[in-house]
Amino acid sequence: MSRRPPEWLAEKMATGVGVVPVLGSSNLIISGETPRAQIFEGNQALALLEASHQEILLGTDDHRPVFAVSVDEGQAAEAVAMTGGAAEFVDLRQVGPFLPPADAHILAHARGMVYWHSRHGFCGVCGSPTESKHSGHERKCVNPDCAISHFPRTDPAIIVLVYRTDIPGGACLLGRHARWPFGMYSTLAGFVEPGETLEQAVSREVFEEAGIETTNVNYLASQPWPFPSSLMLGFHAEATSFDINIDDEELSDCRWFTRDDLRGMKEWLDAKDDEFRLPRRDSISRWLIQQWFDAE
Ligand SMILES: [Zn+2]
Repeated sequence: MSRRPPEWLAEKMATGVGVVPVLGSSNLIISGETPRAQIFEGNQALALLEASHQEILLGTDDHRPVFAVSVDEGQAAEAVAMTGGAAEFVDLRQVGPFLPPADAHILAHARGMVYWHSRHGFCGVCGSPTESKHSGHERKCVNPDCAISHFPRTDPAIIVLVYRTDIPGGACLLGRHARWPFGMYSTLAGFVEPGETLEQAVSREVFEEAGIETTNVNYLASQPWPFPSSLMLGFHAEATSFDINIDDEELSDCRWFTRDDLRGMKEWLDAKDDEFRLPRRDSISRWLIQQWFDAE
């Protein structure tokens, strides 16, 4: 979606507008075999805009502006009633994989922006209140002596598939957090620290979490992860040491998996409680694993 100046916006508002409500960390989803984003139009959209304390222009879709609005419990109930009960507020993490990609993108954007506004009501420099500007893409400090502008931020995080080539067929390094579903193993990940290159972040995280040294750090692809505001940057890296020494504050286990091991693992949703499972198919983690798996 593209973003345009306010005059253009006013003109388009007259002809049509889309509105997606966000309740805390939940989005409004039309349930069904293929769930979809509930995007309000016409008078329903204008009613939500009118009632909202915080509207954010996400961009334009089908030549109409689409806004996210933050709603409270009462407004949320009214929004659900407008759909005749066909939609409900759900955490995007639960339905994201099943949504059409364009819907998932709009809702992730909406959720991320509403989250940012909810956390930046006060200036981080002088503590005065801030107010929304430029259709919700900036918050400005109301204290005239400060008047600093705050902008939405995205936190870069690396996610990396580490592989080894010293054994026939090779193997990849996957770990698990204690809070994950039983048996789920995934690629290692962590936030980029100030002053660090992405390559340094990859090597540091892998060494801190698993005690493995790496080389040949290569970027492959990225995935926004608005829970709350990250961008996952996906890498492959080659191990130069092989004895795993886990940081048990980060991981509960970490192992080398061969391609045969991976063939024996179940899909995220299909696994029984005692079975090993792979990350879900829509995750960059799974994609990084698949890229390595297919490169045999
Ligand atoms: Zn300030």
